[in-house]
Amino acid sequence: MSMKKSRLWCLIIALFLFVVLTVPEPGFSWSPKAHTLIAQKAGMQNPAYSFFPDLFKEENKALLGPLHYHNAAPQTTVTPAYIDRYPIRLKDYVPAGRMDVKPITIRVPHPAGVLYWKIVELYEAMKGKTGWLYDYYLFSIAHYIGDLSQPLHNFPHGNKRAGDGRIYQAAGNWAKEHHKAFDEILESLVPLDQEMDTLYDSWIHEPCVKSAGDLKREIARIANASIALANKCYAEKRLITVEEALRHTALSVSLLKAVIADTQKGPPDPSGPSSE
Ligand SMILES: [Zn+2]
Repeated sequence: MSMKKSRLWCLIIALFLFVVLTVPEPGFSWSPKAHTLIAQKAGMQNPAYSFFPDLFKEENKALLGPLHYHNAAPQTTVTPAYIDRYPIRLKDYVPAGRMDVKPITIRVPHPAGVLYWKIVELYEAMKGKTGWLYDYYLFSIAHYIGDLSQPLHNFPHGNKRAGDGRIYQAAGNWAKEHHKAFDEILESLVPLDQEMDTLYDSWIHEPCVKSAGDLKREIARIANASIALANKCYAEKRLITVEEALRHTALSVSLLKAVIADTQKGPPDPSGPSSE
């Protein structure tokens, strides 16, 4: 092999290792393109930022992972009261075997997942905020409202306990095996071509959200549609179709638009945190 060729190979191998070792494995979620589509259709600036919570999650998967899903038992009907039963709670933490140290208080999510509750918490936090602070809550809530329409974020996963405390081994194994394929179903379709883009817009129907109560009802509606679709795919042992995925993400867009309409008080403040 000539010197030139071997250098080229070294470069290719180095580039490959760089990509493999530095690009974070995002874990389970709609793909970045699908989250971007949802945020962009809802009218957000910098829609790609709505994927950030999946990157933050890597900081502490045990505590931040459950913000992205709720492992609903297959027969669950989500209601506003149901949402309140799966919150984040303050708990005292002491490292194992260290009873001599002072406990620290940390926010611990319900192990079945707190996706629905987290959306409501962010909505309440963003009300009355403006500028960069509003934008922070907005890209977070955009992400979780996006997760809401991924059917398998609302279904048993592996051998984890579902919301009712039971383990649904067969459904959970199926969901775990196909989760990535569901996540990536829209990958080759986004950005949408013109015809699809027009059709997509016809599926967006902004509900009226003026309170946490309204929001909980809308979260429950999408969650129940997601659970129903997950059950259908599981019963038919198939992946989500492209059209089902697009229609579902449009549910997220509709709700995100309603949240923005209810909470946005002014244009984002370009001068950054010091102005707040
Ligand atoms: Zn997520």
